Amino acid sequence: MRVLVLGGGGQVGRALDARAGAMGHDVYAFPRDGLDATDEAMLRAALETTGAQALVNAAAYTAVDRAESEPEAAHALNADAPGMHARVAADLGLAYLHVSTDYVFAGDGRVPHKESDPCAPRSVYGSTKRAGEVAAWRAGGRVAILRTSWVFAPWGNNFVRTMLRLAAARPELRVVDDQRGGPTSALDIADAIFRMLPKLADPAEAEATGLFHFQGRPAVTWAAFADAILDEGAKHGHPRPPVVRIATVDYPTPAVRPANSVLDCARYARVFDAAPPDWRLALPGAVAALLGESKA
Ligand code: NDP
Repeated sequence: MRVLVLGGGGQVGRALDARAGAMGHDVYAFPRDGLDATDEAMLRAALETTGAQALVNAAAYTAVDRAESEPEAAHALNADAPGMHARVAADLGLAYLHVSTDYVFAGDGRVPHKESDPCAPRSVYGSTKRAGEVAAWRAGGRVAILRTSWVFAPWGNNFVRTMLRLAAARPELRVVDDQRGGPTSALDIADAIFRMLPKLADPAEAEATGLFHFQGRPAVTWAAFADAILDEGAKHGHPRPPVVRIATVDYPTPAVRPANSVLDCARYARVFDAAPPDWRLALPGAVAALLGESKA
């Protein structure tokens, strides 16, 4: 399929571009300066020029803490734009896939969240992302919303990069051990999206629209993820300080994070006949690339 990607410069946007060929799709990935995801006229023109059959929104205001003091900017991109995208896609008869987040949940309890669980975001970022889900769904058409979490990639800003940077600078790393979630490779998200699109575009596939959870396995805490990253870095001779486990209350941030970010991915697995990926398989590639980049 010919797929137009918004947010082509981000972790997931770049992964979509990188994986398109292998997954048998033609991707037109537009970074922010090529196509502003809030600009309807530009979007319509780009869809026409490329002859796209599907639209994927990987653009978002992802600065979770900054969003607390910039709610209007977060709202414009995360809440308003997806409704516009879905409306434009429906007008043109295209499939629309929107990427969303575990932050739509309050994160209480210990049970993995199902798509049908009530949303109760505790941050501006989470509230705006939830509003975007609702707006996209209400626009009608062939819409899928893919919620994921803890995204990392061989590029971009992510927890893997931060841990490797801090490991080179500090004698120990203090990392939160009471938030649990699933690290998810942007490359695995890209593969999942490409797997979803043909069914999403097919009106006979009644089950392929709506909400889907997609997250790497196994679930871990941030501290356990940090240990895995540093172990992988050590294989390249990178410094390997100890990880000291701390509580969320000892690391205050402007935005409240969900304590339980574990997602139940059974619906995705059933409808698209694919198991959620093991993030440990993608981690070595990301660590090698990020360390290689810092040495270059
Ligand atoms: P990134 O921050 O890496 O990428 C987002 C991209 O959106 C950036 O390249 C940014 O450009 C771009 N962007 C910002 N404003 C606009 C605009 N007006 N028009 C077009 N593009 C714009 O995020 P990810 O790739 O990690 O996130 C992809 C999706 O996954 C998002 O929907 C996010 O909410 C979701 N998600 C992410 C998680 C994570 O841990 N990162 C966790 C769960 C879900 P610029 O760099 O120039 O600002």
